Order: sequence, then C-alpha cells, then structure tokens
Amino acid sequence: TSPTQCPPDKDQLGRATWTFLHTTAAYYPAQPTPAQRSQMLSLIHALPALYPCTHCAVDFGESVARHPPDVSGRAGLSRWFCERHNEVNEKLGKEVFDCAKTDERWKEGPKDGSCD
Ligand code: FAD
Repeated sequence: TSPTQCPPDKDQLGRATWTFLHTTAAYYPAQPTPAQRSQMLSLIHALPALYPCTHCAVDFGESVARHPPDVSGRAGLSRWFCERHNEVNEKLGKEVFDCAKTDERWKEGPKDGSCD
C-alpha cells in the first residue's frame, strides 16, 4: 500500500494549480475594481517567479510576455487562462480544450445536472 500523503508531483501540482486559476477566473467580477485588476495581475506575474516547476514557470513567463493578461473582466480572463492552458496542452501533446466550455467545466457544471 502506498502512503496516503505524498508531496505532489508535477502533474498533481499542475491539476491543482489549473483548478485554482480557472476557478478563480470563473468567479472574477465582470467589472473588477482597479484594485482587483491589479491584484489579478500580481497573481499572474508571481507565477513565473514562484511556480515550483522551473521549466513550467519559464515557459509560462514567456507566454505571459507574448500575451498580456486580460484582466478587464470575468469572460476575458477566463478565455485568457484557457488559451494559456491550451498552449501547455499543445506542448505536451494533449487535446486542446474548447474555450467555449470553460464556464460549464469550472462554474456551472454540465446541463444534465450530473455535478449538482
Ligand atoms: P490538466 O492539464 O492539469 O487539466 C486539468 C483539467 O482542466 C482537465 O481535465 C480539463 O477538464 C481542464 N482543462 C484542460 N485544458 C483546459 C483549458 N485550456 N481551459 C480550461 N480548462 C482546461 N507540465 C509539464 O509537463 N510541462 C510544463 O511545461 C508545464 N507547464 C505548466 C504551467 C502552468 C502554469 C501550470 C499550472 C501547469 C503546467 N504543467 C506543465 C502541468 C500540466 O499543465 C498539467 O497540469 C499536467 O500535465 C496534468 O495534466 P492533466 O492531463 O491531468 O490535466
């Protein structure tokens, strides 16, 4: 039997981090205050400096530099994170996610109610 509590590997950390980022974007205000915009920018810009997978952090930093974060509101931010995540998906040879389904995946759940 494996220990029940192990430090996260790169994939577990990635899943947890994307869960946090997409969910935070899903609940970001439609009309954020200047303080909220600036806090979101700080959160995004902290990742390349602090994310504890060095090559992930370097690539993410380059992606952020190429694509300035859209912190104007919930919809734009959710799309921006979806596109950044898709860049990683493509790099890793994973399926590209349909960004039109971001709210269903991270906020509303499927229409059949299976997550209610
Ligand atoms: P994940 O990619 O973790 O996705 C979790 C869930 O999110 C999926 O099941 C799906 O339902 C949903 N989802 C998938 N794509 C999207 C999208 N575009 N928008 C919204 N929802 C989506 N790993 C590396 O090996 N190399 C790297 O360079 C690397 N860079 C990373 C950079 C960052 C900033 C982060 C947060 C993670 C990075 N990772 C990297 C980890 C990698 O992205 C995955 O988290 C990891 O490979 C586990 O993948 P997974 O298939 O379990 O699903």
